Amino acid sequence: MPVAVDFETIVIGGGPAGSTTAALLAMKGFKVLILERELFPRAHVGESLLPASLPIFDSLGVRAAIDNAGFIKKYGAAMVWGNNRSIWSWLFAETKGPYSHSYQVTRPEFDTILLDNAREKGVQIREQCQVLGPIFSKDDATVTGVEYINQDGNRETVRSKVVIDASGQQTLFANQFNLKDWDVAFKHLAIYGYYAGGEHLPTPDQGSILIESFENGWVWKIPLHDGTTSVGVVMDADWAQAEIKKSSVDSVFERQVLLTNEISRLISEATFKNKTHLIKDWSYVTTRMTGDGYALVGDAACFIDPLFSSGVHLALQSGVLAAAYAATVIQSPDLARSAARQYEATYRRRYGYFHELARLFYGSNKSLDSQFWRDRSLNEENWSDTSREEFINVVAGNAPEGYERVVIDQGHAPKNFIKAIEEAENSRIDRATFSQQFSNNELLLKSPTLVDDARLVKGATLGDGIYELGYLLQTSARPEGYPVIAPIALLLNLMDQKRTVRSLAEEVASTLKVDDSITEELVLVAIRNLAADGLVEL
Ligand SMILES: Cc1cc2nc3c(=O)[nH]c(=O)nc-3n(C[C@H](O)[C@H](O)[C@H](O)COP(=O)(O)OP(=O)(O)OC[C@H]3O[C@@H](n4cnc5c(N)ncnc54)[C@H](O)[C@@H]3O)c2cc1C
Repeated sequence: MPVAVDFETIVIGGGPAGSTTAALLAMKGFKVLILERELFPRAHVGESLLPASLPIFDSLGVRAAIDNAGFIKKYGAAMVWGNNRSIWSWLFAETKGPYSHSYQVTRPEFDTILLDNAREKGVQIREQCQVLGPIFSKDDATVTGVEYINQDGNRETVRSKVVIDASGQQTLFANQFNLKDWDVAFKHLAIYGYYAGGEHLPTPDQGSILIESFENGWVWKIPLHDGTTSVGVVMDADWAQAEIKKSSVDSVFERQVLLTNEISRLISEATFKNKTHLIKDWSYVTTRMTGDGYALVGDAACFIDPLFSSGVHLALQSGVLAAAYAATVIQSPDLARSAARQYEATYRRRYGYFHELARLFYGSNKSLDSQFWRDRSLNEENWSDTSREEFINVVAGNAPEGYERVVIDQGHAPKNFIKAIEEAENSRIDRATFSQQFSNNELLLKSPTLVDDARLVKGATLGDGIYELGYLLQTSARPEGYPVIAPIALLLNLMDQKRTVRSLAEEVASTLKVDDSITEELVLVAIRNLAADGLVEL
C-alpha cells in the first residue's frame, strides 16, 4: 500500500536553486513545500549573473519582475589579469550567444523575487523553519520526508515522494551522507563588503564586473543599482587565516583592497558601509547527487570558485533539471533511477566545464610573480594530457569564444593546451566542412556507420519538464549521451556500413509509413549533423 504523503515534493532551502525547482513543479500542478531557515529578504553573497540564465527567467515567468527591479544590466566582464596590468574587457555580445546582457543583482531582492514567484505559482512556503535531516522508509533505503524545527521551535516531520536538498553551502544531505569531496586546488576564503558610491568603468563596461588579480589573489568590484558597490577579496584560505590571526578580518580586507591599482582607485571616494563578511570559498563536489527519493541541487551538490560568476546560473540550471527529476519520480517511478543518472551526469558536466575553466584561468595568469599565483600556475608539466583531455571533453562541441577564447588571447596558457584546443576546434570545423563537401546525390550513395566510440542505448531523456523513456547516443566523453528522437534511433540501428544513405532513408520511410521525399531530406540533414559532430563516419 502506498504510504500517505503530505506533499509530492519537499524542497529544503528557498535560494535560487530551491525556488526554481519548486516553482517549476508547482507550474506542472504538483503539491510542493519549501522549508526555509531564514525570513526573506535575507542577505547573500553572489551578485553577478550570466546571460545564459535569461531563458530560465522566462520559463519561470520572472523576467518582467527582474527588469522592473531596476538591476544594473551587465554586458560583460573587465579584468586585470593575464599578459599585462591594465584593464581589458570583453562583452557577452562577442560570444555570439543569443543574449548580450545579464544583471548585477542585490541578492536579498533577487532571491525574494524568485521565492515570491514560487509562492504565486502555488508552492507552500514555510520560512524560519530549519530542516534537521531526512526521514527514511522502514527499510532505511528511501528518503520519505524530513524532520524540521518549525517557527514555534517545535520538531515536526513532513512526508513526500521526493525531497530536494537545496540548502546551499549548508550541504545538509551531503554532510549527513558523507558525500563531500573538497577540491584542494580551490581552497580559498573570501572577505567582502559594500561601499556607498564608487566610480563606474567607462561605457560599454559601466555595468561589468571588474576582476583584478593582485599578488595575494583577486578582487571583485560589482556595481549595484542601489548606488552601492560590492567588493570582495579572494585569497588562499590558509594564508588568509594566518593574516587574520595576526590582525583582524577588517584590516586584512582593507589592506588587500589597497594592494589593487584599479579597484582601489575606483572606490577611493566611496564610503565603506557597515561591516565585512568572511566566507569560506572552498570548492567541492559531492560524490553522489541523487539517491532513492532525493536529489541535491545548486550549491548543495557542488560549488565552484566564484571567478566566473557561475554559481547562481548553475543553481538555476540544476533547479530546472531537478524539477524534471522530481516530476519523473512522482509520475513515472520506473524511470526514476535512469532519470537520476541523467540528472547527475548533466549537472556534473556543467560543473566540470566551469571547474576546468577556472583551473585554466588561475593557471595561466602570469602577470604576477607571487606565491599565490605560482602555487596555481599550470605549465607543460602539470597541465598533463589527462587535464587537457578533461578540458577538451568539457568544452567539446563549443567553439572557444567566451572565457576560453579570453584565456587563449590574454593569458599564458600552456602551449600544449592552446595546441590541443586549436586542434579540437580545427577538427570540428574540418568535420563540418567535410560533411558539407558532398552534394545530396553524393551523400545518398555513402554507407555511413557509427564511430567505434558511440553506442545507442535506451534511457531517460529530458522532455517537457519530465524525463521520458527515449534513446541516447553515448560516447566515452559524454556518458550521459546525446538524446536522439525515435526516427534517428531507427536510422542509427539500420546503419551497417553496407546500406547506403538512400536505402536507409527508404527503410526508415517504409517502417514509419511516411513520405519518402520528406524522410530522405531529414535523413540527409541528420547524417550531415552526426558526421559534423564526429558521431558517424561516412
Ligand atoms: C565569495 C563568493 C562569491 C560569489 N559570487 C557569485 C557571483 O558573483 N555570481 C554568482 O552567480 N554566484 C556567486 N557565488 C555563488 C552563489 O552565491 C551560489 O552559487 C548560489 O547562491 C547558490 O544558490 P543555492 O540556491 O544553491 O544556495 P543558496 O542561495 O545559498 O540558498 C540556500 C538556502 O537554503 C537555506 N537553508 C540552508 N540550510 C537550511 C536548512 N537546514 N533548513 C532550511 N533552509 C536551509 C538557506 O537559508 C538559503 O536561503 C559566490 C559565492 C561565494 C562564496
